[in-house]
Amino acid sequence: MNKDPAGPADPAETQGAQQSAQQSARAVDHERIKRAVREILAAIGEDPDREGLLETPARVARMYAEMFSGLHQDPKVHLQKAFTEKYDEIVLIRDIAFNSVCEHHLLPFMGHAHIGYLPNGRVLGLSKLARLVEVVSHRPQVQERMTETIADLLENDLGAKGVAVVVEASHTCMTIRGVRKPGSLCVTSAMKGIFRSNVSSRAEVLSLIYGRRSS
Ligand SMILES: [Zn+2]
Repeated sequence: MNKDPAGPADPAETQGAQQSAQQSARAVDHERIKRAVREILAAIGEDPDREGLLETPARVARMYAEMFSGLHQDPKVHLQKAFTEKYDEIVLIRDIAFNSVCEHHLLPFMGHAHIGYLPNGRVLGLSKLARLVEVVSHRPQVQERMTETIADLLENDLGAKGVAVVVEASHTCMTIRGVRKPGSLCVTSAMKGIFRSNVSSRAEVLSLIYGRRSS
């Protein structure tokens, strides 16, 4: 059996990785996950020591460190990169792909986020919106909270006058188990500021988000 002594992460492994990934790797207890996965394998009646499963606990530990890296990162750092710009119309990015993990079953849900906001003198670099989704999605959660978290960050930390976030996702806990409804899509939305209070502003941002479907 390949038994690495429990110690700091292999320096060669983390050398090229981003600082945030390093923080996450440190924050996630790999040895503890490995023990737990061995225990689950034994509990389902498997032999954790058979050849095909020997490396599985370590693989799962590395996978969880990646999938839950957002627990140990602050999404606000990406909002600090906003710049001053007099643009005062809607900024919208559609189809930001993401994958997350449902906290009820620890199964992945994946889909797309569409984010629109009305700037209040500060505009965010376009890639920063995608980074924001990346950090927030890599946590165990429900889709409703993920949607709300993204909207709150843009309203409170960017100071946008209006924020509209629509998330569409397929939940594997609904498609491969339980009710088994492949193809079902869960849609959640969060409207803040002017998109909440003003009907025509909301209609405008929603037509930008959903416009492609009628064309
Ligand atoms: Zn679930």
